[in-house]
Amino acid sequence: MLSYWEKTTLRHFDLVVIGGGIVGLFTALLYSKKHTQHRIAILERGLFPDGASTKNAGFTCFGSISELENDLQNIGRSGAASLVMNRYRGLQLLREELGDKPIQYEEVGGYEVCFDSPSLNRIEFFNDLVEPFLGQRPYSVVARDGFGFTTKVHALIKNKLEGTVNTGKMIAALQDKVSRAGVITYTQSDVLQIDDYHEGKKVLVQTLDGSIELIATQVALCTNAFSRRFLPQADISPGRGMIMISKPHRAFSWKGSFHYHEGYNYFRTIDNRLLIGGGRHLDEKEEATLEHGVNKKIEASLISDLNTLFGAEANIEIDHAWSGIMAFGKNKTPLVQRIDPHLVAGMRLGGMGVAIGANVGDALAELLDS
Ligand SMILES: Cc1cc2nc3c(=O)[nH]c(=O)nc-3n(C[C@H](O)[C@H](O)[C@H](O)COP(=O)(O)OP(=O)(O)OC[C@H]3O[C@@H](n4cnc5c(N)ncnc54)[C@H](O)[C@@H]3O)c2cc1C
Repeated sequence: MLSYWEKTTLRHFDLVVIGGGIVGLFTALLYSKKHTQHRIAILERGLFPDGASTKNAGFTCFGSISELENDLQNIGRSGAASLVMNRYRGLQLLREELGDKPIQYEEVGGYEVCFDSPSLNRIEFFNDLVEPFLGQRPYSVVARDGFGFTTKVHALIKNKLEGTVNTGKMIAALQDKVSRAGVITYTQSDVLQIDDYHEGKKVLVQTLDGSIELIATQVALCTNAFSRRFLPQADISPGRGMIMISKPHRAFSWKGSFHYHEGYNYFRTIDNRLLIGGGRHLDEKEEATLEHGVNKKIEASLISDLNTLFGAEANIEIDHAWSGIMAFGKNKTPLVQRIDPHLVAGMRLGGMGVAIGANVGDALAELLDS
């Protein structure tokens, strides 16, 4: 039962952000900078954010050539170019807000693994596409030496502006900054329902102590794959992704972020371990779920990929595996919209949310003021 103080003061907020992933954290942070006197709360269902933001591989990728080929078919030249531009802007904002060192940002290059000869014509076509807003021609073909690959790897296409972060450190730095900005984060707070209430919203939250109604002038929905609870018609489908990490191995002292099969599969190193993940396309129906879990078929395929890439004699031992849940739609552009006068939403970040996440938070903070 609420006390008089809780009922009259503590449950009232100017802004309630639902979802404590990268988008929710950035929305709260950037909005709080413009409204230093406002009471802002983030409500997160998990103890840690339970979707994708603390589960991902930490690639600061913004566009590989094979993926962009696909985007060209689906959203055309200007659509593909603006996707890359928005991701790149998001990456700059992430770095500006948090600093490179605290998040262990390293511009070590993003590499597309080619199992046959890459087309040089296409590389120059994509350099032409991105040069106007990157001011650089980032793509080039490089030798496969230095990474311990077998001869099955034919060549690598490098994007010299891509790199990696330490995902745990990135979210910790963001949570820390949000907290220093005066935003209150409530974890283990599952929002069940949002209703209209006078000049704002009533947010029904399930906590370990029972359910409680918070009152907010504005609500920002940052629930990504889980958004259909509130917006049943939204073009959002869940997609589970899995990652495995090896035990430390002396062969894994190189750095870089690598992907293959149009970006569906990827690997990198961290702490002298190999991190490998993806493969959702191998069992798309099974992976269209909001439930965490490790798909045995995909796990077996990733282990077989290790042999293709590094040879069985490398003897890579897997230490640990986990999953995260992403959100996809008919196209790859995130959905950022005002739903009604007191509710905005930023969701559907797909598989490249690290770079674009800050940008979506920035757009939502702007929308809240419109
Ligand atoms: C395995 C994997 C690897 C990935 N690798 C990369 C990568 O290397 N590079 C990259 O750029 N992107 C990667 N991504 C994608 C990236 O992580 C996401 O696009 C990004 O984190 C999405 O951020 P978000 O804040 O929109 O969503 P989320 O991080 O999913 O945040 C949404 C939050 O809302 C909370 N929530 C949901 N419903 C409720 C509710 N009712 N009440 C309260 N809280 C609720 C959830 O618990 C969750 O924490 C990867 C994703 C996965 C799963």
